[in-house]
Amino acid sequence: SIRAPASKKTATLLVAVKCRPLTEAERRRNRNIIQVTDDKNVVVLDPDLSKDYLDRIQNRTKEKRYCFDHVFGPACTNSDVYKGVRSTIAGVIQGLNATVFAYGSTGSGKTYTMVGTQNDPGLMVLSLNTIFELIKNDTSSDNFEVSCSYLEVYNEVIYDLLEKSSGHLELREDPEHGIVVAGLRSIKVQSADRILELLNLGNSRRKTESTEANATSSRSHAVLEINVKRKQKNQHRNQILRGKLALVDLAGSERASETNSGGQKLRDGANINRSLLALANCINALGKHQKKGLAYVPYRNRYLTCFAIQDEIFCLVLTGVLYLVFCSKLTRILKDGLSGNSQTVMIATISPADDQYHHTVNTLKYADRAK
Ligand code: ADP
Ligand code: MG
Repeated sequence: SIRAPASKKTATLLVAVKCRPLTEAERRRNRNIIQVTDDKNVVVLDPDLSKDYLDRIQNRTKEKRYCFDHVFGPACTNSDVYKGVRSTIAGVIQGLNATVFAYGSTGSGKTYTMVGTQNDPGLMVLSLNTIFELIKNDTSSDNFEVSCSYLEVYNEVIYDLLEKSSGHLELREDPEHGIVVAGLRSIKVQSADRILELLNLGNSRRKTESTEANATSSRSHAVLEINVKRKQKNQHRNQILRGKLALVDLAGSERASETNSGGQKLRDGANINRSLLALANCINALGKHQKKGLAYVPYRNRYLTCFAIQDEIFCLVLTGVLYLVFCSKLTRILKDGLSGNSQTVMIATISPADDQYHHTVNTLKYADRAK
């Protein structure tokens, strides 16, 4: 059994931005500050209308422009977003790995984009659809087996979202399968039909805690992993290819200091940021090495290619190298998908509302660095 064809050794990273529409309530009290100028460009307008006259004539406005691989405006559906990223997951039935994750502050549309609704199914559902479609249209006589797992990383502890009341799960290094979550439930699936139900049930088990930032702020990362096992038949030696697609709904990216509450919640915030920082390092390294034609990603932060996503994190990086050696669970789970022959898609989700200006600019800055 081998993991992937040795010839395909390139890793790619695609960065897309999705701006959700204003909600009903926001339409009454907020201004829209996002302009999607075309399918690759987005402008964040200055939310402060009472700008200084001097600032205006000297063009010291806070208007910011960004360019990405794809930018999807408020009118775009999840299928529009999906069309832009679909090609990156096709290799999964050939034994390649891919990771798609949504990054953004709480309320920016991560869960909507990844899970979606009955009328507008999200990327998790659409990807699974594609996998079954590709398998159906495959002309070889190979045998396919598709299985899914759905887990949560909360406070650096892993839980099974497919189990009613899951205990703590541990990571283990398996010689054949790489890093695995011991005891994680994996279910065989024949079609994408019931997956939305399953995801919604899993999501209802996620640890949520109200914070001052948002009443239903999700402080946990959720990872849907789709495994495709391909048994090749028409060869002298039977080979098994294993492809893995990880679809990740990250915890809110807002700063820990913004959720102005002590104790447990603050610790959650710190852990979330640690997870995101470790992930940021991977993404950053992936972006850099890609340009040099390499595909190696350090996932344990042993050397510092770090940048600051957020102010307080930058201090940690400068003064606390050892602290960062304790690599994040999330990054280890995603390691296969972020290194080697893998395709990575980052979808940065933003809100168009003026009161989200700082979150939006932070998210776009982070996404911009990943390019
Ligand atoms: P997050 O997971 O980032 O915290 P959600 O996905 O829960 O954010 O989205 C916040 C709110 O915005 C929800 O009420 C959701 O239904 C709505 N929303 C997000 N994206 C869209 C979209 N593309 N179209 C319509 N409503 C959306
Ligand atoms: Mg969410």
